[in-house]
Amino acid sequence: MPFSKDFRVAIIGGGMCGLACAVALSRAGIQVDIYESASKFGEVGAGVGLGPNALRALDALGLMEAIMTKADQSTPTLRSFRFLSELPGHETIYDYPASERDVGLGIHRAAFLDALVGLIDPQTTHFNARCTAITPPSVSGSSRSVISFSDGTTAEADVIIGADGIRSVVRDAVIEGSGLKRLAFTNTVAYRALLPNESVKLSGVKTDLSERPACFVGVNKHIITFPIRNGQTINVVVFCTDRSLPVGSVEVPRDKWVVPATEQEILDVYNDSGPDVKTLLSLIQKPSKWSIHCVSPPLETYTKGNVVLVGDAAHGMCPHLGAGVGQGFEDVLVICQLLSHPDTNLTNIQSVLQAYDAVRRPRANMILERSTWAGELYESLQEGDSSSVIEQLRTELVDLWDPVWHHDIQADIGIAVQQLKEEGAFK
Ligand SMILES: Cc1cc2nc3c(=O)[nH]c(=O)nc-3n(C[C@H](O)[C@H](O)[C@H](O)COP(=O)(O)OP(=O)(O)OC[C@H]3O[C@@H](n4cnc5c(N)ncnc54)[C@H](O)[C@@H]3O)c2cc1C
Repeated sequence: MPFSKDFRVAIIGGGMCGLACAVALSRAGIQVDIYESASKFGEVGAGVGLGPNALRALDALGLMEAIMTKADQSTPTLRSFRFLSELPGHETIYDYPASERDVGLGIHRAAFLDALVGLIDPQTTHFNARCTAITPPSVSGSSRSVISFSDGTTAEADVIIGADGIRSVVRDAVIEGSGLKRLAFTNTVAYRALLPNESVKLSGVKTDLSERPACFVGVNKHIITFPIRNGQTINVVVFCTDRSLPVGSVEVPRDKWVVPATEQEILDVYNDSGPDVKTLLSLIQKPSKWSIHCVSPPLETYTKGNVVLVGDAAHGMCPHLGAGVGQGFEDVLVICQLLSHPDTNLTNIQSVLQAYDAVRRPRANMILERSTWAGELYESLQEGDSSSVIEQLRTELVDLWDPVWHHDIQADIGIAVQQLKEEGAFK
């Protein structure tokens, strides 16, 4: 079948965003190759929470049906988060109201990838392909950009989409050689676990965690739980933060971002917590500890020449709004709709990527900063807490997700197309 466009796209990175992008572009008839550094598509054994905006983007990309077949849940459910104190008594601080439209999904990451892998032509997938550099046509002398890989091989493409995650190498081609330095350790570590709901219930945890997401708010620490696999499994992420140091002042060596931790380490951090938290945490076995990093300061552009960033490569953020991959899916939707627009061709690619940047960057960077702030909020209880602190916290939590969940991404696509028309790039 002939391709619909006169340009060829390379996607660097086959994570959740890279795969979604590959499926959508190839369905639009665009020639696309995906280069993944690992030997197969794979994800950490953890769940991911997808909010209403993430589901709308996936729906517009035509991917929801495939994802729901792997979701272990027949329909998306309400995202009404409960905020409780992690301190004894587990006082309910705020019950986040969710309207009918506020449905989301908790899904195992591997299941998500599974749903998409079946939609990709294996001939377009290149494993063990670790990108090390991108050379633009002006330097390479070729009419296309040249992608170099760690094994010495190269490939060429007209458009390069960097979906290579928070430690993006492609970012370096966009941010004048300093993209890799745009990362800061947030002084927060996270321990992640998947617990069978049956064990949680049998252990005596009284708070029901199988129906809705919950956030146990604390003093420089908090815990997020959400049900996956139809409530049979509880995804637990346990956070704690050292707030005595400025963000970015500690550098964590690359090979130490995820390290094994002991069960006792978690219990020690939460030794003053209430009974439900202590019991829940006592169920965690062989935890791993993640150093939470974010892109900092936010990028001043997501594109340069014919290279463009999506997902964590563009705006790796703290996980505190559960919004990271949702922002990535919004990127993917906008870039795919613009690249497949009837007026897009090899001659106006750079204008199209600039239009993508103009609508996506302000929004995604805002959510990046809001995610950092949300983490501070969840950890803002104080020792010997007073009701005024809780009251203040309650006020701040109202409408917390409004800007994340209720944005009109289709309107953004309309604005980008209008901009391209006004510039004369589109008819
Ligand atoms: C503890 C924690 C909890 C989270 N919870 C949520 C949540 O509930 N909801 C939510 O929306 N987000 C959450 N996030 C954020 C979410 O995980 C990310 O936003 C999402 O995984 C980003 O997807 P991505 O495809 O951009 O990058 P990644 O998932 O990182 O994928 C990048 C891919 O690129 C490959 N790659 C890397 N470098 C190269 C290279 N040089 N060459 C070729 N391939 C390369 C990698 O192998 C990988 O397959 C959480 C993050 C953390 C740390």
